[in-house]
Amino acid sequence: MGKTTGFLEFERKDEGYKPVKKRIQNYKEFTKPLKEDELKNQGARCMDCGIPFCHSGCPLGNLIPDFNDAVYQGKWEKATKILHSTNNFPEFTGRLCPAPCEEACVLGINEDPVSIENIEKNIVETAFKNNWIIANPPLNRTNKKIAIIGSGPAGLAAAQQLNRAGHIVTVFERDEKPGGLLRYGIPDFKMEKNVIDRRLKVLEDEGILFKTGIHVGVDIKADDLKIEFDAVVLCGGATIRRPLPIEGSELKGVVQAMDFLPQNNRRVDGIKDLGEEILATDKDVVVIGGGDTGSDCIGTSIRQGAKSVSNFEIMPMATENRPTNQPWPFWPMRLRTSSSHKEGAERYFSISTKRFIGNKEGELKGLITSEVEWEMVPGQRPVLKEVPNSEKEWKCELALLAMGFTGSETTLADQFGLEIDARTNIKASEKNYKTNIDSVFVAGDQRRGQSLIVWAISEGRQAAHHVDSYLMGTSNLPLKGEGDLPRV
Ligand SMILES: Cc1cc2nc3c(=O)[nH]c(=O)nc-3n(C[C@H](O)[C@H](O)[C@H](O)COP(=O)(O)OP(=O)(O)OC[C@H]3O[C@@H](n4cnc5c(N)ncnc54)[C@H](O)[C@@H]3O)c2cc1C
Ligand code: SF4
Repeated sequence: MGKTTGFLEFERKDEGYKPVKKRIQNYKEFTKPLKEDELKNQGARCMDCGIPFCHSGCPLGNLIPDFNDAVYQGKWEKATKILHSTNNFPEFTGRLCPAPCEEACVLGINEDPVSIENIEKNIVETAFKNNWIIANPPLNRTNKKIAIIGSGPAGLAAAQQLNRAGHIVTVFERDEKPGGLLRYGIPDFKMEKNVIDRRLKVLEDEGILFKTGIHVGVDIKADDLKIEFDAVVLCGGATIRRPLPIEGSELKGVVQAMDFLPQNNRRVDGIKDLGEEILATDKDVVVIGGGDTGSDCIGTSIRQGAKSVSNFEIMPMATENRPTNQPWPFWPMRLRTSSSHKEGAERYFSISTKRFIGNKEGELKGLITSEVEWEMVPGQRPVLKEVPNSEKEWKCELALLAMGFTGSETTLADQFGLEIDARTNIKASEKNYKTNIDSVFVAGDQRRGQSLIVWAISEGRQAAHHVDSYLMGTSNLPLKGEGDLPRV
């Protein structure tokens, strides 16, 4: 795999970024790709380590050493086939995955790991450039009809797999365009939306029907789906936002991130009628929440021309290196600094927002925080303690709440009579993704809770296998770890 001595000869090289001043002028992606020779050297760093822990680090079970080797040898078409045998949408993961595979890379024990995610992105981009990714409709149809509810990465992956098995697949989406959080959560500067559109065209050409602007449970009821379809796969995501029920949270200017980000993505898409506009322009902005959503709010606020952007995180600042109690090959909780963080935001850790302050007109003007400490008692959950006399007032006209999601909506679960867990996610075992109701399956964030794109694709693929088995008695759709190595 790779070049036997590649990891000794070549250092890790990541793609570059356009300078901050330039990239914040617009919402376009701003990475600077490596040259082909440089990419081959990156593939060459994969070191034939015997047991490729990266396989198990990747929720899709991507055949990483095999595509690294193909890239090193310049066999891009072969690499494309290997990659697509386990991952329907490497253009999404190659841009957006936090790359748990790289944390599990054996070279990462004492060197920089192989740049797997970037290799993945370049394989799929080379493939699109060369028109290797074209519709591949099934030769025969089973005439079994399947409804997929939700068109995020889980729904799209399930749809493509089930269509490949010859079933007649309809994807229902309540938004105006398919894509889920890929389209209306994640900003264009992380992934431009033509990346979704080009893949959707392939799915449509393969025969998948997309019905957008339809809110299932409202426009169509569960009983109608049961009559019309042989199986239903729920992929509605975990959409219930975590609130911040403190004094002043009703003020104008205290806004949920998932009202702010989708509105901006629609603005970038050229939509004019956006309702009441939420803009960071010329404002002191505080983003509450230090995860992906918070980071996306920072990048968006900066592009809108915020006066200042501060980011609050209630947890203590993690270390940049892997903590000793989270050894390789596990995913470590370390400090992650995104490109948006580097665009001019100040980050504050161990800080809790106590109340918002408004003026007579009910507009947000500031907020009060206190410092916090986490008391660790072995065997118990950490306890949050306020540091005495640590209150501080901040000027702020826009506070963006980016504290994650507490669970999924229950309308459809109620209509179908589905069991839900304590977080209102729909219950289904990872063994077969089947709910307590026959013919109803669930995958992605709606089953596992707020998670990652790579997990959503993985769950969509796994669920598709089990839906196919349920309908046909057996399935040839691959499960995780059943990728295919073409002899090209
Ligand atoms: C701002 C933000 C940034 C993120 N950044 C990253 C990142 O960089 N990397 C990463 O790996 N993950 C990221 N995530 C997480 C990732 O986007 C999700 O884990 C992933 O999209 C979940 O996929 P899904 O298909 O399960 O659901 P979603 O992507 O949430 O899609 C669900 C879809 O179902 C539709 N729907 C719901 N109910 C109905 C209904 N009743 N009728 C019709 N349609 C319905 C919704 O409109 C939506 O389109 C981010 C999340 C957010 C919010
Ligand atoms: S999908 Fe994510 S975890 Fe899997 S190989 Fe790609 S970057 Fe790594």
